[in-house]
Amino acid sequence: MKQERALRGVSAAPGIAIGRAIVLDRAAARDTPAIPASERARELDLARNSLDMVATEMEQIAAGLREAGRQQEADIVETGALMAVDPGLVARVEGLITELGRSAADALRQAADESAQELAQLEDPMLALRADDVRSVGRRAAARASGLKPGEHSGIVIATALGPADVAEFAVHAKGMALAGGGVTAHAAIVARSLGVPMVVALGPEVLDVEDGEEVVLDGGAGALFRWPSPGRIADAYSEVERRHSARQDAVAQRLEAAQTKDGHQLRVLANAASVAEVVESLDQGAEGIGLLRTELLFLEARAWPTASQQASFLRPILAPLRGRVATVRLLDFGGDKTPPFLRGTTSRGIELLLDSPDALKAQLAAIVDAGADVKLRILIPMVTDPEQVLAVRNALATVIDGGPAPQVGAMIETPEAARRASDIARVSDFLSIGTNDLTQLVLGLDREQSKSAPVTDVKVLRLIDATVRAAHAAGIVVDVCGEAASDATAMPVLVGLGVDELSVAAARVGEVRQWIRGLDFAACREASEKRLLDQPADAAGKRL
Ligand code: PEP
Ligand code: MG
Repeated sequence: MKQERALRGVSAAPGIAIGRAIVLDRAAARDTPAIPASERARELDLARNSLDMVATEMEQIAAGLREAGRQQEADIVETGALMAVDPGLVARVEGLITELGRSAADALRQAADESAQELAQLEDPMLALRADDVRSVGRRAAARASGLKPGEHSGIVIATALGPADVAEFAVHAKGMALAGGGVTAHAAIVARSLGVPMVVALGPEVLDVEDGEEVVLDGGAGALFRWPSPGRIADAYSEVERRHSARQDAVAQRLEAAQTKDGHQLRVLANAASVAEVVESLDQGAEGIGLLRTELLFLEARAWPTASQQASFLRPILAPLRGRVATVRLLDFGGDKTPPFLRGTTSRGIELLLDSPDALKAQLAAIVDAGADVKLRILIPMVTDPEQVLAVRNALATVIDGGPAPQVGAMIETPEAARRASDIARVSDFLSIGTNDLTQLVLGLDREQSKSAPVTDVKVLRLIDATVRAAHAAGIVVDVCGEAASDATAMPVLVGLGVDELSVAAARVGEVRQWIRGLDFAACREASEKRLLDQPADAAGKRL
């Protein structure tokens, strides 16, 4: 038996997972031997059957959705079924197997990737959006070719890198994710934490040498992947998985208990979401609504601004379970590590980009108002730096609602400029939401995509948060924190002490955060936070100034 071997990376989402490796990418240098000519016909059959299986599965899913009255979603899934039998894709797969001797699974993945790249080049935004769907069909078919049945796709996904949308798709079944590259504050990691899926990033190319189907243990908290795990490690992993499972059940059982400190200070716990799965999970764990719905993640491969109808199709199923509750829909926050092809080269981010494209802004507002008719709608503006931007969104909204009920409009405070102008911004907003992810990185000059830490309790950041809370309260509006700090065991009590009214946290963390609040003493938090504000700032080397 082989000796246990640890590959070290960086923790991106906590939790232990044990299972079979599902390897999506191979290191470029890896030389997979070609399949002998005599075996290629068998691989060809396997590949064709796998595509047929996927087509049938997707048709069945579509039929189920149609029966449940979900016509639009059914149409989307049905397109996937058609893609699986698309003659162009099939011909590509056949070529890779017969001419190059690729295995069925490798050929399916590669052919889908090539077709996706072609689609992504097209001008028609609808077709470009389908690029991700083709990749998804390829991955599903490759999984079937490797002998994985639907729902059994529950191993540990290993890849070079994953986009936020990939993570959301895989998280439905995957037990954990191990990436050769990536950073802890990138959006892929945020989605993994949100869905409660352990993730380790920056493991290096060696992780791509793991064999498909090999049993591995992933330690999301310690940032390591173990090949050939020892019997002791396997036993510990199973008991940790069990412990997490029962902690979640406790959270669900206690979802109706108030999120109130021991001395009676009430907070509102909302959830961050970008998918139906997260909304459902957060409500199960007692979320009072959604504090941050990220709308851009589905459109990261788009070749043009998404249309109103594309956005309404995305929003409707997500907002459906939230009838009568708060749903805070954030306007598209493109830029940074969320830059789709049609915006490549831009240095702007968030609302600045939307205000430069007034039709795109109106299309999104129309979609939100239309899909949000049954929820307590709040519209949140990303990357605000100036109160004029809030007023511009209000003006655009007025033309869209045309005398109908007006949703609340709030501003994200996630840049140092915004925090410094918080009083002016608060005066024209209905609520503020502090984005500690960007704020921390920008104040401390860190690189969000590669950063290995997020020191939100640095006094330079805390002083800006304090100023924002004061500005909101002086204007008589609520302020929430929707960055990751709201569910960080060290940072959360400090934020509560500074007086934030709402915490919006990853869906998988809602129950735990509510539990933490019940264990806090508000007066003690306030005192501790006030003391922290008096700390001396440190220089880049960590020396107090
Ligand atoms: C943030 O910056 O804290 C935030 C919540 O926005 P995002 O993580 O989507 O950039
Ligand atoms: Mg942000």
